[in-house]
Amino acid sequence: METIIGIDLGTTNSEVAVIQDGQPRVIPDENDRMILPSFFGLSEDGQILVGEAAKNQYALYPERTIKSIKRKMGTDELVKIGDNQYTPQEVSAIILRALKQRAEKYLGHEVKKAVITVPAFFSDAQRQATRDAGEIAGLEVVRIINEPTSASLAYETKHHQEEKILVYDLGGGTFDVSVVSIHAGLVEVLSSHGNNHLGGDDFDEKLYLYIFDYLKNEFSKEEIEKLNDDQRFHARLLRAAEKAKQELSDRPYASIEEEYLTERDGKPYHLSLEISRHLYEEMIHPLIEETLEAIHTALQGANLNPSQINQFLLVGGATRTPYISNLIQERLNITPRQELEPDLCVAMGAAIQAGMIAGEKVASVLVDVTPYTFGPSVLGELNGMPYPDVFIPVIKKNTPIPVSKSEVFYTMYDFQKAVEVKVYQGEDPDALKNILIGSFMVEGLSRVPANNEIIFQLDLDLDGILRISATEKRTGLKKNIVIENAMSQFKEEEKEKAKDRIDQLFGPSSPTFSTGEEQAPTKEVRERIVQGKALVEKAEKILPVIPEEDKEEVINLIEGIQDNIQKSDLGALTMEIEELSEILFYLEA
Ligand code: ADP
Ligand code: MG
Repeated sequence: METIIGIDLGTTNSEVAVIQDGQPRVIPDENDRMILPSFFGLSEDGQILVGEAAKNQYALYPERTIKSIKRKMGTDELVKIGDNQYTPQEVSAIILRALKQRAEKYLGHEVKKAVITVPAFFSDAQRQATRDAGEIAGLEVVRIINEPTSASLAYETKHHQEEKILVYDLGGGTFDVSVVSIHAGLVEVLSSHGNNHLGGDDFDEKLYLYIFDYLKNEFSKEEIEKLNDDQRFHARLLRAAEKAKQELSDRPYASIEEEYLTERDGKPYHLSLEISRHLYEEMIHPLIEETLEAIHTALQGANLNPSQINQFLLVGGATRTPYISNLIQERLNITPRQELEPDLCVAMGAAIQAGMIAGEKVASVLVDVTPYTFGPSVLGELNGMPYPDVFIPVIKKNTPIPVSKSEVFYTMYDFQKAVEVKVYQGEDPDALKNILIGSFMVEGLSRVPANNEIIFQLDLDLDGILRISATEKRTGLKKNIVIENAMSQFKEEEKEKAKDRIDQLFGPSSPTFSTGEEQAPTKEVRERIVQGKALVEKAEKILPVIPEEDKEEVINLIEGIQDNIQKSDLGALTMEIEELSEILFYLEA
């Protein structure tokens, strides 16, 4: 069967995916990155740069770098870079060529055909330009499909009943809401509405201004004027802003650190600044309000009201911002689906469409998600009344795993010495109606007034191991516990009840959860484990074509790595990963 790849050619980022074993798989580069920034540039010595490398140089040499070429598709505007001029089709073709090569390297054979996605509102001229770009890149474009259609396909390959799907897509620089009707393979975009100049970049801009305001207090007026003229300075601040933004999607605070940002009084100046999610959400609130209004316009366009929507999908990298799903939930009383990676699902849908055209068997997409919500209880309000055990979701049901999330909580009293942390699994706003899966005390807090900040963090991995920690922000005083089987707690609870009954007869046994730092693998170990798993997967894939004389060694290393992942043995794991990488590298060459 001939391979047809699926491509999301985005304004900010692009991805390529393919069907393997009935599942769409987004193809990573050699560094395991799925996303290719849609950037093109020329290096100092005239070399072509695409993706991450070009995005990195954008900070330093914006004049030699092109971004967001998708905005110009369908126009005959030329872009200048160095002494050369390019049509938008040519620049897009360079990005498409990089994706084609990535796929070929991964699959080990040539790829000639592709399905490419475009926004629902793209005109005929824009669609034609996209087709042309594909052909310039050496790809036969077997079909152009709409991005919201593609996302709908990724979420549900087989729609037996007619469904109305609302796709909320917030990317880097564009936003659109589309209402799609889908039934037995027939897809129709009923309406589409949005703002072509609204996206995650605007969130960056807000943070950028925040940082800049801070610097205005640090430097004299003359110094600021000088900095203001420096492209590199601006570009660095923008990158720092984007990094902080992404951190705030998972954490209540982000630190903005830029070493050697500039000089002050002849000495290097290191920027170091913190921002809270709370303040950040205030900054982006008006932008998100605007997107909520667009939802209503799109619904009106399709002649539907919110209750007639069967599925609400969050698409685009910027929808990782939790404030977005929270506001949608609050205003529309709809729980949006976001269990697929929002910046990958359009490419996944394109691969599904491509697979169907190629005649491949395509199954519904499987992803690892948490089946329950996890979070602590706090003193708060329930049904308008003060209540001591209000459940606060931190990791929500259907979040892809592994996942790491944290939230900030506050002490109640002046000079409070300790907090009790209780963690529940369940969906009820009353924590007591959920299942208590662990509790512990953090003692020895600083002697300070109420509202001492405590950072509560949950890390859930693929094996269902939940790491819970609580940290006093001002001192770093920390306590943590590990729940070994957080995703099968219902059965555990039954066991606990039985155990409690027996304990009452014989006196209590030891506690069911363990405390102490020594249990938690360090970040380094976790990263090495991820690396090891990816490498094993890759090795297993090419095992059938490995020459006999190397096979045994590769198999031994695969088993060794799996074994040491189990044991979390960092030293042995690192050694074996290095060995296996070397062999694979040599085999691929
Ligand atoms: P596009 O469709 O425009 O090519 P994407 O769907 O890839 O773009 O979205 C890119 C945007 O998503 C960027 O603004 C990026 O900073 C933002 N983004 C990526 N990850 C996160 C995150 N964890 N939190 C918030 N925004 C994110
Ligand atoms: Mg997109």
